[in-house]
Amino acid sequence: MASGVQALVLTSNDLQSKKAPECSYFQQCLLCQQCFNLEACLDDFLHHILHSHGLVIADVDKIAYVHRYVEYWRVKLATNSLDSVCIGMKDNTEDGEKHYYLLSPLLPEDEQLRTNLLSDRLQQVLSIQQAEREDNSATWKCLFCAEDYSGNRSLVLNHMNEEHNFNIGHPDNLVNVRSFIERLRFSLDRLVCLYCEKTFKDKFTLKEHMRKKLHKKVNPKNKEYDQYYLVNYLEMGEEWIANKCKKVIKRKGKSGVMAYISKPGEESDTEEGWLEGEDTTLSQQFRALCLFCEYTGDNSCNVYQHMAKSHGFNISSLKEENGLNFYHQIKIINYVRFQVLDKRCVACGVQFKDGRLLADHMTSSRHITSFVKDRAAWDQPMYVFTTNDKPYAAID
Ligand SMILES: [Zn+2]
Ligand SMILES: [Zn+2]
Ligand SMILES: [Zn+2]
Ligand SMILES: [Zn+2]
Ligand SMILES: [Zn+2]
Repeated sequence: MASGVQALVLTSNDLQSKKAPECSYFQQCLLCQQCFNLEACLDDFLHHILHSHGLVIADVDKIAYVHRYVEYWRVKLATNSLDSVCIGMKDNTEDGEKHYYLLSPLLPEDEQLRTNLLSDRLQQVLSIQQAEREDNSATWKCLFCAEDYSGNRSLVLNHMNEEHNFNIGHPDNLVNVRSFIERLRFSLDRLVCLYCEKTFKDKFTLKEHMRKKLHKKVNPKNKEYDQYYLVNYLEMGEEWIANKCKKVIKRKGKSGVMAYISKPGEESDTEEGWLEGEDTTLSQQFRALCLFCEYTGDNSCNVYQHMAKSHGFNISSLKEENGLNFYHQIKIINYVRFQVLDKRCVACGVQFKDGRLLADHMTSSRHITSFVKDRAAWDQPMYVFTTNDKPYAAID
């Protein structure tokens, strides 16, 4: 948070003399009448609640919609004491004993609130993304040449990848693609390299620099870009997914593993990197792998046919019968993978000694598809992230 930004603090007099402030910008303190612009001056607010009220909010940077979070607790604290709501702490200082209060996900109510807010935000982001997926009528301008595209966002992303070797990520892992591209154009127009963020004297020098230094990628450390990557909205967080996927990679080896897409250019300790941002196309790197057995196919159709024929798992009929959208299918596939990894039946949860017994059980009992009706099991935000291996590239 920029410390040079002046706190916009209104006193209760200001509030009474004017009409209600634009409330999306101003949020009243949990414990007094002061109002803060939480977007611009969050630090001032945190400073205020600590020094005026002895209150600390844990992991505030992980909260979605901070103003809604604060408003929730403001309403609650209007009729409940801090002692009855928060975690109390004592600190012995020179001036004697001081009391502090903590709002943290250690409190079940706080944890629930945070989860709800994250889930709301994810829903919102997913609906924006769904609209972007379906929009085939927009016009796009390449960042590097005069080429214009009319149609889906994937056209311009593919063009930049193929023609200019510039890859910002798989379309399904991005959100607000237009504003992302325009943000990048803004830098290029100012002769700033997208990777090292140095400024150059003219377009030609910048172009040569980006090409020669292999800086044709976005700076993964630029936090401003986080908002454009779906993974940053996931409830369980990037770390959780990365760990899950490393586990899969370890067990399944290099081919056909679940692909978790990180931001391009980000460092990774797995051998093959995290796929995106690599020059080789995925189709060269990966073969399609069955969800239930060791079968691998050359393309997604093979694997779909195999799964339908050998295991009775037909994703397109499931889609039809259950009205599944793109994200539902992704969630189902990831859910199945996690369950199979643990050798647990997707429907009844019984654990088996080996994968073959599990597959036999799921097929003969038809549990392999019956679980889809039980949405609570798989329709969880944590299962939304795009798998990048071939069988699922064809989902739509
Ligand atoms: Zn206050
Ligand atoms: Zn171009
Ligand atoms: Zn550079
Ligand atoms: Zn199989
Ligand atoms: Zn079962």
